[in-house]
Amino acid sequence: MKSTVSPFSPQKKNLSDPLRVQLAAAYRILAMLKMDDLTYTHLSVRHPGEEVYYIYPFGLLFEEVTASSLLRVSLDGQVIEGSESDYNRTGYVIHGSIYKNRPDVNAIFHLHTTAGVAVSAMNCGLLPLSQFSLHFYNRMAYHAYDSLALNTQRQGANMIKDLGQKKAMILQNHGTLTCGITLHEAFLYAYFLEQACKVQCTALAGGQKVFVPHKKVCEQAAQDLRDFEPDFGIRDWTALLRQLERTDPSYKD
Ligand SMILES: [Zn+2]
Repeated sequence: MKSTVSPFSPQKKNLSDPLRVQLAAAYRILAMLKMDDLTYTHLSVRHPGEEVYYIYPFGLLFEEVTASSLLRVSLDGQVIEGSESDYNRTGYVIHGSIYKNRPDVNAIFHLHTTAGVAVSAMNCGLLPLSQFSLHFYNRMAYHAYDSLALNTQRQGANMIKDLGQKKAMILQNHGTLTCGITLHEAFLYAYFLEQACKVQCTALAGGQKVFVPHKKVCEQAAQDLRDFEPDFGIRDWTALLRQLERTDPSYKD
């Protein structure tokens, strides 16, 4: 299954699909925000109802991803379009398992940011210390570390069981995962989770006692934050696309 074709010479197929351009932009924006991790971690997207999804070719930095370099992969991990330098088994177990079991999910962001991994190692989990964190109040899933996700039957099944119907999950001692109905929803959850983790690490590092809002206020805020923007993420996503366009529009190539 390992490809022998360089990821830098992709097959030219279905390049007119605007979802390719959107996903390439997501990789570039995550690189711009310094939320990437060399050639590791992965973002994916699919058209609603489709049993294939787009993901980057293993081996590229996020800042190198272009629309034409993206792969199309089946839910069983078969690369059906494009090529990569190494077979991305862990990526396909994670993304394929979730898409197969969550028909409402059309985008998945898996990240290894320092703050995300740090909070994933705290046995208190994500604390309600900031407005960022209240997006996830009573809405966060947790998944115990179980080495590299190489096995769909056991590890993939456990991951979807732990995720349930939630849209964000902390992969303990590993990183974070967010899902969305849209790419911009998965993005904004990834961004707010990163901010929440940074605030938690910084606040706890100060060694002072911290304020925690009342449970009722936390729950109200979680609902209000969601209701505040029905198409969650679209405003910030559109703004970031404008920024990307000004700085480096080559993601569309
Ligand atoms: Zn990972």
